[in-house]
This record gives sequence, structure tokens and C-alpha cells, in this order.
Amino acid sequence: MPDYQPPLDDIRFVLDNVTPIGDLAKLGPYGHADADTVGGVLDEFARLMSDVWAPTNEVGDVEGSTLSGDEVTTPTGFKAAYDAYASAGWGAVPFDEAYGGGGFPWLVGIVMQEMLNSANMALAMAPLLTQGAIDAILHHGSEEQKEKYLLRMVSAEWTGSMNLTEPEAGSDVGALRTKAVPADDGTWRISGTKIFISFGEHDMADNIIHLVLARTPGAPPGTKGISCFIVPKFLVNEDGSIGERNDVTCVSIEHKMGIKASPTCVMSYGEQGGAVGYLIGEENRGMRYMFTMMNNARLSVGLEGLALAERAYQDALQYAQERRQGSAPGAPAGESSFIIDHPDIRRMLMTMKASIEAMRGVIYLTAERMDIAMAHPDPDIRQAEQEQVDLLIPVCKAWSTDLGCEVTSLAIQIYGGMGYIEESGVPQHFRDARITPIYEGTNGIQAMDLVGRKLPMRAGGVVEDYLSMIASLDPALEKAGDGLASIRTNLADALTVLADTTGWLLHHGLDDPRDALAGATPYLRMFSLVTGGWVMARQALAAKAIIDQGNGDVAQAEAKLVSARFFAEQLLPAVKGLQAPVTAGHGGLFAIDPAQLAG
Ligand SMILES: Cc1cc2nc3c(=O)[nH]c(=O)nc-3n(C[C@H](O)[C@H](O)[C@H](O)COP(=O)(O)OP(=O)(O)OC[C@H]3O[C@@H](n4cnc5c(N)ncnc54)[C@H](O)[C@@H]3O)c2cc1C
Repeated sequence: MPDYQPPLDDIRFVLDNVTPIGDLAKLGPYGHADADTVGGVLDEFARLMSDVWAPTNEVGDVEGSTLSGDEVTTPTGFKAAYDAYASAGWGAVPFDEAYGGGGFPWLVGIVMQEMLNSANMALAMAPLLTQGAIDAILHHGSEEQKEKYLLRMVSAEWTGSMNLTEPEAGSDVGALRTKAVPADDGTWRISGTKIFISFGEHDMADNIIHLVLARTPGAPPGTKGISCFIVPKFLVNEDGSIGERNDVTCVSIEHKMGIKASPTCVMSYGEQGGAVGYLIGEENRGMRYMFTMMNNARLSVGLEGLALAERAYQDALQYAQERRQGSAPGAPAGESSFIIDHPDIRRMLMTMKASIEAMRGVIYLTAERMDIAMAHPDPDIRQAEQEQVDLLIPVCKAWSTDLGCEVTSLAIQIYGGMGYIEESGVPQHFRDARITPIYEGTNGIQAMDLVGRKLPMRAGGVVEDYLSMIASLDPALEKAGDGLASIRTNLADALTVLADTTGWLLHHGLDDPRDALAGATPYLRMFSLVTGGWVMARQALAAKAIIDQGNGDVAQAEAKLVSARFFAEQLLPAVKGLQAPVTAGHGGLFAIDPAQLAG
């Protein structure tokens, strides 16, 4: 089975040309993260991913995590791979230096996460969930809580878990019932059941810091009555050492279609009288605190889609160059061709390649904006960048995870019958990818977020600024001449359709929200395609500059220009066909009642 090779050249192309890492280093806090230093960090990290993490991916799928009593055992090699990551300090790279972090831009952390997820997505979920818990404590915890938990979580010695979901509270988190009652000593006692908790229990770290959403006595109903608690698996003594076992256990783990090595746990809190919990911030503000970490978490899940697409592409590309079948047009008589020479296989490979490059550009660009929004000295720029991040997050999450499923499915198609056979390795990527449009807010919820919350930001001003920014690339594309002409025309056409459709949605969202919600998912796809088209146009301009000046890797630049053109000419035109579904309104969806849907 093919191995995973971190695509460092592709990653560097984006970091050098689309989201210049050198510019971020000019912002005070990231001064030490110049391009050379970041390059060195990524080279070394890539070695760990290809040599240590990637080989554990298949065994993880075959063995899965197992539960015995209330203890979860991860598959062979997982603990060693996690230890290698933690002991070298890799988990700390993008976090605050005050808590032992490396203080690197989030963009660098995101690039590393791409490699983590390509190498082994199921294992990468441990650092991902820890990141969510760190974010919540860092932004809303007390100084004492930060000192007690963050150092060991940032160092990856301890992991974190996020406990939102309950049997009756999935997309509607506000329906949760887990209880928290105050104890005499200022702590709380937590009781209730949480389901689907990733890495709620495992054998890779000495302690697990659970973040648990619960209701305090008399809390208002819905999301306004949710509080957030730290519930450690082992209580932590005053001197930082590990103390008594807390009243929280894993009672079962799910049998899933993918990410089988990631233990998805049913967690029971308080069977012995109440798990000791520590309130984060104030009562009833838990949902607000979750929003703080949501952008990071959703960007990271979008990245899972990109990462699996990349790994599946590498496999499919290799297979297409080794498998001979049929005779491609123009092949010598009597000789069977490599399937890569068939136009339909090329179509699939180019679709995969262009989609991956567009996703990578959009996700890295959003991470870069997060860094600017955090660190720029000008508050107006910080706010403008944050608005753009908020607008782009549902796009990064939903588009990249949908594409993750589509691209991994294309890999299976390229393998033909072998793609349906587990030993080929490609079905795992597809099965692993399938969860990503579901968790961290289903993609339907992302589309509703884009249409219902993000478009109306600043009375439509934020999206208007965004569309104007895309339009402002036109003079550079015009100046670039004939070589980029099709990119220019297709982007301009798609942008016009997006602007019209956005206006329709803003209007109908006010008139009858059902119309806007009915078109939300095709609209998100339309928005994403235009965003991808814009990023690929920037890629094309950068590639053309390298080719014209003969300065840099010209062969790579030529390939980048070709994939940008492919995206503009063959993927972007789909925008036009999406306008009718977006603007159809809700009538057709509800024209027959549920009984009639059956026949
Ligand atoms: C492998 C795995 C790992 C997970 N890890 C975690 C974890 O670590 N922590 C955690 O807390 N949770 C976790 N989850 C839970 C996950 O976040 C939820 O499954 C997800 O939020 C969806 O909730 P649900 O399953 O209840 O589906 P439902 O909410 O019942 O949704 C069913 C369908 O209805 C749609 N829908 C629901 N409400 C609306 C609406 N208002 N408008 C339009 N459509 C709607 C949804 O989009 C979906 O298509 C995990 C789940 C899985 C499977």
C-alpha cells in the first residue's frame, strides 16, 4: 500500500505565495516565526508524520480501540506515536508562550494539523479535542485553572475532551440535561450521561481533562442556561500531582464506519454521587464560551476533509501510474495503457488536485486572517479580519468536508474494483471522511449559519466587503494577459451570480426565512466555489510571476497555473447552475406532506 508523503512543496507554495508567512513574522508576536524557521519546523514535523504516524493508520482501522471494564486500549503503535509527538513538544507549537507554548502563528499549527490528519486522522483527534479544551480554559478559565491544567495540556502530557452531546441534545445543544449542583467547598458535583465523546477515555496520557456542559439549579431553559465545567479524570492536587480518581467512567464505545481507532465514548458522570467539577467563568455563559473555540474547532474539522483528500489523492495518483488497462487514444497498437492516460481518469485526478489546492488555499488563508485578527496593531484591521474569518468558517468547515468525501470517493473510482476492497487502503479514507460533514455542527447547520447569521453581519456589509475584495483582483488578472484570460472571465461571471444570489437571500431572509434556509446548502456550495476560484486566481498570478521572472521552481509554477485554469474552466462554472436551487424558495420542498413522501 502506498505511504503518505507530506506535500511540503505544495504547502510551501501557499506559504510563500498565497499566505506569505514572512508577512506574519512582521507582526510583533510572531517575530521568531520567519520563513526559514517555519520551513525547518515543518520539515522535521513531516518526518515524524511520514515515518511514525502514517504507518499506524491502517492498523488503527483494523484493530480499532477496545473497551475492557472502563478502560480503553488504543491500537498497536498509537501510544508510542502519541508519545513521540508529545515528548518532542509538537503539541505546544501554536499555543501561548505564557503556558509553555511555542507562540507560533495559528497558520503554522494548521499546516501541522493537515499533516497529522493525513497521517492518521483517528489519532489526530486526540490533539484536536485537547485544542478545544485548551482554548476554552485559556480564554475563560481563572488564573488558578490555567496554571493547574494548561501547562500539562499544552505540553500534550494530558489530553482534553469536549462533552456537549447527549441522547436528546445533538444539533440542539440547548436541550442538554446533565446537572451540576454546588458543593460546600465551592466546587460542583456533575451527574448525567454524555454520548459520542471522542477520546473520552484512552491509554495514551496520564490524565484527561473533560470539558463538560451542564445545567445548574434554576438555570433558564435552552442555550442561555448552560454552564461549562472542568472535570478531570484524576483530580489534580495543589502541588500539581495527580490525585484521586474522579466519578466519571466510560461505559461503552461506539462501533463506527470509520475513524475506528478514535474511541467514541458514552461517558457517565456521577454514578457514585457526583463527579467533582470546577466552573469555568460564570454560570449560564457556557454556550458563549463554546463560541470562542468554535471557529478554531470548525476550521480544524474542515482541515480533516482536506487532509484525507490529500492522502487519497496520493494513493490514487500512484495507482493510476501503475495499473494498465485498455488502450488510450493514440497508444501504440496492441499495447495496454496506464490508466492515467485515459481522459476520464485524468479528469478525476485533475478534479482532485484542483479541489485540494483550492481547499488548502482557503483554509490557510482563513488561519492567516485569524493570526492577523489576533496580532495586528491596528484595531480596525483586527476587526475587519475577524469579520472575514467569521464569514469564512462555515465555508471552510462544510465545503472542505463535503469535498473530502467527494475526493476520497473519486480515489475509489480510480482504483476500480480494487477500490472497493479493503486491502487497497482507499476505502478507509472514504469511511474516515464520512463523519466530517456530521460532527462539529452538521454541514446543514453550517449552511444555516452562513445564511442566517453571517450574511446579515453588519446589515450585509461584511459580505459586501468580501465580494468587493474578490472583485478587486480583476485589474491584476486583466494585466496578466491571455494566459489568465479564462480565469479572469470565469471568476467575474461566477462573482456576478454570487452577488445577485446573495442579494436575493438577504431580501428573502427578511421576507420569509424558510426561503433562505431552503437554499442555504446550495448557496454555501456556490459561495465556496467562488472563494476557491478567487484563491486559485491568486495562485495563478503567483505562478505566472515565477514563470515570467524565471525565479523559483518554474515546473511547479507551470503545474499550479494548469490546476488554477482547470478550476476556473471546469469547476467554477457550476456556480451558474446553483442559482436556481438557491432561489427556488421553500414551496417545492413542502408541497407534499410526509405521508406522500413515501409514495
Ligand atoms: C464519531 C463521532 C464523534 C463525535 N465526537 C463528539 C465529541 O467529541 N463531543 C461531542 O460533544 N459530540 C461529539 N459528537 C456528536 C456530534 O457532534 C453530533 O452527532 C452532531 O452534532 C449531530 O447531532 P445528532 O447526531 O444528534 O444529529 P441530529 O441533531 O439529530 O441531526 C439529524 C439531522 O437533522 C439535521 N438537523 C438537526 N437540526 C436541524 C435544524 N435546526 N435545521 C435543519 N436541520 C437540522 C442535521 O443537520 C442532521 O442532518 C460526535 C459524533 C460522532 C458520530
